[in-house]
Amino acid sequence: MLLYDLDLPALADLLKSWDEPAYRAKQIWQGLYQRLYRSPEEFTSLPASLRKRLAEGFIFPPLKVKTYLESSDGSTRKTLFELGDGHLIESVLMRYGDPADDPQMSTSATNRRGAKNRRTLCISTQAGCAMGCVFCATGQMGFKRNLTSGEIVAQVMYYANMLKATDEVVSNVVFMGMGEPFHNYENVMAAIDRLNDPDGYKFGARRFTISTVGLAPQIRRFADEGRQVNLAISLHAANDAERLAIMPVNKKHNIGEVIEACKYYIEKTHRRVTFEWALISGVNDTPEVAKRLAARLKGILCHVNAIPLNPTEGYPGAATDRQRAAAFKETLEQAGIECTIRMRRGVDIQAGCGQLAGSVSELR
Ligand code: SAH
Ligand code: SF4
Repeated sequence: MLLYDLDLPALADLLKSWDEPAYRAKQIWQGLYQRLYRSPEEFTSLPASLRKRLAEGFIFPPLKVKTYLESSDGSTRKTLFELGDGHLIESVLMRYGDPADDPQMSTSATNRRGAKNRRTLCISTQAGCAMGCVFCATGQMGFKRNLTSGEIVAQVMYYANMLKATDEVVSNVVFMGMGEPFHNYENVMAAIDRLNDPDGYKFGARRFTISTVGLAPQIRRFADEGRQVNLAISLHAANDAERLAIMPVNKKHNIGEVIEACKYYIEKTHRRVTFEWALISGVNDTPEVAKRLAARLKGILCHVNAIPLNPTEGYPGAATDRQRAAAFKETLEQAGIECTIRMRRGVDIQAGCGQLAGSVSELR
């Protein structure tokens, strides 16, 4: 078990059972989430006996770094972690803008988590994934297991600690790494709440984005629970037959059901939904598809995020070229649907969307 698996009350209970004074729980909590300590030795204000007990009772380091890769332009870094039971997961750090461009950005308190120099983490929620989307490397490897809340938290704290050395901070966390976050609902929400704790890491709910394949019941539950977290839906097709051909989940929750759940979410939260679209040449990038998509999304508070497909070993589809991507955007916008074409990132280190697990299979 990881120390990150405990919430503050659970940590307090544990310390009580160890006959430690009550204030120790807060002390450890602040060490973990404010000072970003990663090993018991760093907790120098704790008695040696307690440090020893922590070292014996929990797994350290929380995540073992198996290897990491840096993209050629230095903006993207992917780390391959080994979990306690040997499963491998990946998380990616993406740097947008450079603090060197504007020295104020790295030091000014108001801008530390500002938009210009974003430090976005793309983290995993499961080892593998059970959803089987044909174009996705994680889907191609199948499901291994859910991550615990602590294993999810640990990915963020790993990078938070690393960035601290250069006076940088994590600005956004997106659940777009390996796995389907709504298939591991409880642990993902527990991780969000732990990172959000005002006495701990204080990471604002609005800085998280959950991306889901479209598990409609969980979208509704998420709406009811009212966290201020952003929601993105992986749609990729505008009719059921086409979606089913690339996303088996459509058999269980079809497009109509997903869109109804999104409407419910918007009604409840008044928040805009993002629809994600991997542009696959000749498959879902034609003007006809764009028109059909626009018709389905008409009147919904939303935005389309399109990204040319990233290549994966197990899927022969090709990326849409720049020109056709621009035309797709144009068609949507003419029909009144906002669309952005996302930059491809980290493709040279297999850290683009849906490419995670590439290196995992190499290691197996
Ligand atoms: N399971 C969640 C989150 C992880 S996948 C989900 O599916 O939404 C994150 C995003 O990457 C999703 O929008 C997914 O559809 C997209 N994706 C998967 N494989 C891709 C690929 N090869 N190229 C581009 N995007 C891909
Ligand atoms: Fe799973 Fe998302 Fe990949 Fe689909 S795209 S297989 S849901 S990780």
